[in-house]
Amino acid sequence: MHRTFPRLAAALLLAALPSLASADDGPFTLNLRSRGVVDGRVEVVETVAEWEPSKTAIIVCDMWDKHWCKSAERRVGEMAGPMNEMLKAARARGAFIIHAPSTTTGFYDGTPQRDRARNARHVPTPVPLATSPRWGTAWFWIDARHESVLPIDDSDGGCDCAGEKCEQGDPWTRQNAAIEIGEADAITDDGQETWNLLAERGIDRVILCGVHLNMCVLGRPFAIRQMKTLGKQVALIRDMTDTMYNPERPPGGTHFDGNALMVGHVERHWCPSFLSADLTGKPPFRFAGAPAE
Ligand SMILES: [Zn+2]
Repeated sequence: MHRTFPRLAAALLLAALPSLASADDGPFTLNLRSRGVVDGRVEVVETVAEWEPSKTAIIVCDMWDKHWCKSAERRVGEMAGPMNEMLKAARARGAFIIHAPSTTTGFYDGTPQRDRARNARHVPTPVPLATSPRWGTAWFWIDARHESVLPIDDSDGGCDCAGEKCEQGDPWTRQNAAIEIGEADAITDDGQETWNLLAERGIDRVILCGVHLNMCVLGRPFAIRQMKTLGKQVALIRDMTDTMYNPERPPGGTHFDGNALMVGHVERHWCPSFLSADLTGKPPFRFAGAPAE
């Protein structure tokens, strides 16, 4: 009796806490939305896909603590808590989480999660990684073979603050602290390290979330253009991203119209999107003032 009791107690505890045993929940069921050309018109195409959590990575792009644009920084702060809840749910089901706060990974030097990325065994990529230098890291520029020009004019940097525009700079120092870094997560902003981490785990499916969709979520060396070019299956969480778009620039409308246009661009030219609800079972995230989808 005494010897079996602890085992029994553990079994009862696990039974009472199903969230701890959710690796048995099976695959993620993702409602993927993309856009294809049908009879000369761009049309939305929706499919349902099952992705095995243990073969899926979620990459958190540039969810920094600060931003040169106060409106952009406020929206990241608004999204960080819900994103953390999404990551907790996905992690509990077995997904691998990579935190990619570009140019600030030095803040995490010496942590096991940063070392995990650094120490992953080098595996050659099937095609060379993009190398064009910008902002201290490689950048995968817009690729005319795969996409049209962006549907929003972000040539002014995209500050959408009312009145005086914010001065551009790079005030970020780390990832937003509301996003927890799990014991088994990794931290990197490097394309090769990302590739090595995925290879080590046999991961061929990559989910992107974070900011900003017209810039880093497409162009960073761990982001959509590079991952697609390396042959990964990629998807975007469309309610957990944002753009740098000032609606005083073409095509106008609201900042959130710009977000929707950019999501459509990605769905047309790069990868499908889905809502965080597919991972959390809760309503999708929505910025204050944004319309419901
Ligand atoms: Zn601003």
